[in-house]
Amino acid sequence: MSKANHIGIQNHHLTIGGVDTVSLAHEYGTPLYVIDEKRIRENFRTFKSAFPDADIYFAAKANWNLSVLRILASEGAGADVFSDGELYAALLAGIQHDRILFNGNSKTAYELQMAIDSGVRVSVDSMDELHTLSDLAIKSGKAVDIAFRVNPDVSPETHPKIATGLASSKFGIGYKNVLKAYEEAKELPGVNPVGIHCHIGSQITDVSPFGEAVERMMDIAEQITRLGITLEFVDMGGGLGIPYQKDMATPTPHDLADTILPIFRCRSEAIGISPRLVLEPGRYIVGDTSLLLAGVTTVKRSARNFVGVDAGLNLMIRPAMYDAYHEVAVANKADLAGEETYDIVGPICESGDIIARDRKLPLIEPGDVIAVFDVGAYGFSMSSQYNGRCRCTEIMVSDGSVDVIREQEHYGDLIAKQKIPARLLV
Ligand SMILES: *Cc1c(COP(=O)(O)O)cnc(C)c1O
Repeated sequence: MSKANHIGIQNHHLTIGGVDTVSLAHEYGTPLYVIDEKRIRENFRTFKSAFPDADIYFAAKANWNLSVLRILASEGAGADVFSDGELYAALLAGIQHDRILFNGNSKTAYELQMAIDSGVRVSVDSMDELHTLSDLAIKSGKAVDIAFRVNPDVSPETHPKIATGLASSKFGIGYKNVLKAYEEAKELPGVNPVGIHCHIGSQITDVSPFGEAVERMMDIAEQITRLGITLEFVDMGGGLGIPYQKDMATPTPHDLADTILPIFRCRSEAIGISPRLVLEPGRYIVGDTSLLLAGVTTVKRSARNFVGVDAGLNLMIRPAMYDAYHEVAVANKADLAGEETYDIVGPICESGDIIARDRKLPLIEPGDVIAVFDVGAYGFSMSSQYNGRCRCTEIMVSDGSVDVIREQEHYGDLIAKQKIPARLLV
């Protein structure tokens, strides 16, 4: 089970934040997302303690529930947003505009205008975007602080779908071409180049690529300082991995700091600049804060022992999308030994809708509650209504208290924006 102290067992039942998950499942129904407020704060503080002088911009795409963003705002977090909707949510949750960086590899003019109007900084991903942003800023009579998203061409050991800093990746401007981009931006009205930004990937479990990346970024910092640009921030993105498997050892934020900080400090001093360091953790802050509780509908013994549950890739797509491993437990038999090997499968009409494979678990029967661990990042935020399934309730527990932070959707939500042409109604 999880190493984290917010998960426990009481009276044979799994608990989160001291609250019985089986009671939660009975009271609110399944499927059910449950997130622990205290754990969000602990993770943020651990990260912050490793980088006391850095600005921590939470990657909103990992989990942009307003309550989560509000908790992080109260801890002093900024936000890394990747869309107009994430920007809207971050501002609504109280994250200050001057602590938000707007990212994205294909931003629309509408999104760029929203960035200008709300006064956030923009990480510019292409030369076309630079020109559009400059034009819009001039028309608005404003000047926008920007960074370029640099593609540093380093290769972290992670799933190919979440390696974002390879030369072949769609993100950013190659580090060899970025100097020209700064030269051009320096002369363009409406944009002030003040930062550099990279993000090399996600679920990275070896810190050495971060060391390579910071060296590359400081090479660029040196060159653009020579152009006469005053660098205000160096943003190294997110990507620190978490231990999804019980015995997995992953680097801590302090290990990451030991890799990044000496290079960052030494190179800054040598260049004679003092930019702020920005980091954008997403998964590390919220990944282990949540459980997904799913009810067992059926146990089918065929070629394999299939346990059908009421949550699938509609609510947790990581196993199907990234072959991700998540620990699972039988929440109402949490202290019983494993007896049989099961595949836990969702209700979605896709053969890939498998939450967990080959897991030795206590004997399972319909009515049991399966808990899926570490679903706080890229869980609910990647959910869909595929197969006409309503999204489920989200609960927050906090020192024993329980609040609904998102109500279950109903059929009306599935069809809310649909329209039937009048000719089909006769
Ligand atoms: C996704 C993303 C992050 C967060 O990555 P994690 O692996 O969740 O820490 C940070 N910055 C950018 C630009 C991203 O796209």
